[in-house]
Amino acid sequence: MALQTAVHPALSRVLIDEATLSARIKELGAQITRDYSGKRLMVVGVLKGSVIFLADLLRALGPEVDVETDFVAVSSYAGKASTGAIRTLLDLRHSPEGKDLLLVEDIVDTGLTLTALTETLRAHRPNSLEVCTLLDKPECRKTPFQPKYVGFKIPNEFVVGFGLDYDERYRQLPCVGVLKI
Ligand code: 5GP
Repeated sequence: MALQTAVHPALSRVLIDEATLSARIKELGAQITRDYSGKRLMVVGVLKGSVIFLADLLRALGPEVDVETDFVAVSSYAGKASTGAIRTLLDLRHSPEGKDLLLVEDIVDTGLTLTALTETLRAHRPNSLEVCTLLDKPECRKTPFQPKYVGFKIPNEFVVGFGLDYDERYRQLPCVGVLKI
């Protein structure tokens, strides 16, 4: 039976439906499995937006990869314009030194958060550090940051669902949609 995504009343439209998300995450999982085959991979979810994507991505990784999971949480410093400075709210439990690290994020917008976060993590001297994001808004970039693994490139619209929130709401939606304004 085909999956049907009912449009939530808070959405003006569904941008990426459940079946499309699921198929693409399986592809990303297969690609990451090929790239890290035989290696020890530390998959690090950036809280909170990545959790739904991360849960699916982890289950799409094959047994060829030895996977360890951890989380980080950061917040941008409040202010009118984003400076790109971040504050670490939750740090890695174990040192990533000498490990292959894959940072999993929900969306890259300006790129400022991930530029700062990857710089912070590189200081811990991982063997390698790459980023996998479910969504990418390349038009909005304020830094040349380019994630290696991208689920979907999307236009410059505010989206919610599949882990992404508006004021902590709508993370539970099974699709990615554009919020009604
Ligand atoms: P960046 O530093 O790349 O501008 O910020 C990325 C963060 O901004 C994401 O982790 C997310 O929290 C937030 N963000 C950017 N665009 C959107 C969007 O369209 N929807 C939601 N819900 N959050 C967004």
